Amino acid sequence: MIYLKTKEEIELIRKSSLLVGKTLAEVAKLIKPGVKTIDLDKRAEEFITDHGAIPGFKGYNGFPYTLCISINENVVHGFPSERELIDGDIVSVDCGTLMNGFYGDSAYTFGVGEVKEEVVALMKRTKESLYIGIEMAVAGNRIGDIGNAVQKYVEKVGYTVVRDLVGHGLGKNLHEKPEVPNYGRQGTGPILKEGMVLAIEPMTNLGTKKVVQENDGWTIRTADRKPSAHFEHDVAIRKGKADILSTFEYIEEVLN
Ligand code: MG
Ligand code: MG
Repeated sequence: MIYLKTKEEIELIRKSSLLVGKTLAEVAKLIKPGVKTIDLDKRAEEFITDHGAIPGFKGYNGFPYTLCISINENVVHGFPSERELIDGDIVSVDCGTLMNGFYGDSAYTFGVGEVKEEVVALMKRTKESLYIGIEMAVAGNRIGDIGNAVQKYVEKVGYTVVRDLVGHGLGKNLHEKPEVPNYGRQGTGPILKEGMVLAIEPMTNLGTKKVVQENDGWTIRTADRKPSAHFEHDVAIRKGKADILSTFEYIEEVLN
């Protein structure tokens, strides 16, 4: 069943989601060539615990780290490691927090140094597709309206949408019903109701939509090893317009 949140619960999810945005901004400060991704993870864990929260991903189904860090052809669920960022990489950083019993979950893809123009465009379009999806996330619409809008936009600009991974409901659990695919048909799926909280998270590829799982049992990468981008917001369903609970504002202050 889909659990509808009270106003108070939505405010708690907002707090947790805002902390994710601030954590990603701390990570953004460190992103440059030569930095090991494990050091981004350490910083994020320290920042989250300093703010009285718990890293939401660490230990979730056995995931060993605070951040999912997925470089270039890696789509999601990558492990932080001794791998140093190099000029021209793109790095998707996905972060979750648990505070006051509620989760926040948000992701952003960063460029490292000078990134190829076509890959910068992939990041830009993927972020745009997230906001296009959010525009459809209003009471009375259906889940399929979100995915349909994302897919239409992404395919129109020449990229592909990953099918094997989807967005989700969010609250006392990191992953709740309903699933929120980034593809689909208009007018299908559960009806959106006030009080639903959804994590909308398009994963968009430069080449094939096909993905494979690496031998670590976690990392998902594109089958053709072309780059992939990922942006994620948590939103509360309302009449007329979604309430975006997470934010990229702190991140973009750092980037600009
Ligand atoms: Mg996430
Ligand atoms: Mg998520």
